[in-house]
Amino acid sequence: MLGEGILKGMAETAKNFFGSYVSKERLTTVEYPEERVPAAENARAFPFLVYDGPDWQAGLRCVSCQICEKECPPKCILIEKSKDKKPDYVGKPQFYPVRFDIDLSVCMSCQICVEVCPFDAIKMNTEFALATDDRFGGLLFSREKLAKSNEYYHSIHPTEAAEVDARLAEEKAKVEAKAKAAAEAAAAKAAVSASPAEGGN
Ligand code: SF4
Ligand code: SF4
Repeated sequence: MLGEGILKGMAETAKNFFGSYVSKERLTTVEYPEERVPAAENARAFPFLVYDGPDWQAGLRCVSCQICEKECPPKCILIEKSKDKKPDYVGKPQFYPVRFDIDLSVCMSCQICVEVCPFDAIKMNTEFALATDDRFGGLLFSREKLAKSNEYYHSIHPTEAAEVDARLAEEKAKVEAKAKAAAEAAAAKAAVSASPAEGGN
């Protein structure tokens, strides 16, 4: 029938309009900013840096490899690599960023920095309300402002964060098993060389 689609659409709109007076589920808008709809788990706004443990500086996962800086299309990431190293989550000495800035006024939320990071160190935040009247420095976020705990990551992307945790734990277990096997082999070798030569008088 001609116009059937239009009539169906109008009926759905009317159902939602009148239904919103009696049912909260039909009310699709809220009184923002006093009231906020929780962000969907796969929502993405701007990047943040993940850290483990209580100390953000010691726990930053970033090893300053600078891949994200090179791959960021609008070049809004600026990293300065440390001269010294600190242990990463498996205890391996790694460089870290003494400076890590993202100009969020330039960032286009493409998530490429997240996709290319080999260390699960940078993820997308769901917080989008960052408006400021400081057009020059207000959205230039340094590592202090970008650092968020792994617990925070779990609170906004629970499924993804659990997958990352499982993967990192597996890698850590592999490294520890390898180190243990190497230590046992070295101890066995030392024991053989310390024992008296067989067959001598
Ligand atoms: S989300 Fe895209 S634009 Fe923003 S910092 Fe990452 S790579 Fe750059
Ligand atoms: S966030 Fe990831 S890709 Fe970027 S410098 Fe740090 S470790 Fe490398």
